[in-house]
Amino acid sequence: MDEKIEQFKKMVEMSNNIVFFGGAGVSTESGIPDFRSKDGLYNQKYDYPPEEILSHTFFMRKTDDFYKFYKDKLNCLKYEPNITHKKLVELEQKGKLKAVVTQNIDGLHQKAGSKVVYELHGSVLRNYCMNCHKFYDAEYIFNSSGTPKCECGGIIKPDVVLYEEGLDDSTISGAISSIMSADMLIVAGTSLTVQPASGLIRYYQGSRLVLINRDSTPYDSYADLVINDSLGKVFSEI
Ligand SMILES: [Zn+2]
Repeated sequence: MDEKIEQFKKMVEMSNNIVFFGGAGVSTESGIPDFRSKDGLYNQKYDYPPEEILSHTFFMRKTDDFYKFYKDKLNCLKYEPNITHKKLVELEQKGKLKAVVTQNIDGLHQKAGSKVVYELHGSVLRNYCMNCHKFYDAEYIFNSSGTPKCECGGIIKPDVVLYEEGLDDSTISGAISSIMSADMLIVAGTSLTVQPASGLIRYYQGSRLVLINRDSTPYDSYADLVINDSLGKVFSEI
């Protein structure tokens, strides 16, 4: 086994309050395209740039066009959790892992069985009527035609943080407090270039900060261990 993975495994063994902080790279191994990679969502051709379509203003003004794009590009229902999601569930069940903090909106951690998940950017699995706040699941949204409507006639909005919208306060504070009390922080599948999410890892106070990413990140020098390898390969060893 790779020496670095061996070291990672030992760190996991000696830790009892692990927090996992994950980005798009966690989901790409399930087949979900990375928003920001060179062949990801942001480089695909559409009438408007994805950053504009996925904005609050666009949602309010051109709801039909928003949903055309959203249903086409962000339908996560056909994807399944991968080995990393599953190993995190095992660690949580053993009482070693206390929380998952994720930038992903695909709900795969919950689908795998994780209980404590802070979704910084929301989730496509939760959708609410803007008028009466009734809940709708993702199947309802992705199987609807045109703009999904509530039985009251209101427009349904995904509980996903759009551009121009702020992150949810209780999600942020939950993520911060779990990171602050963690004895090990695993940061994986993220280039750590997106704020404010990347700033969260600064709250970690322990001595086992591990970065696992395909490429180097601006935080590599802060880390106690850096592994530039496939997440699935690393997690299948623990
Ligand atoms: Zn309603």
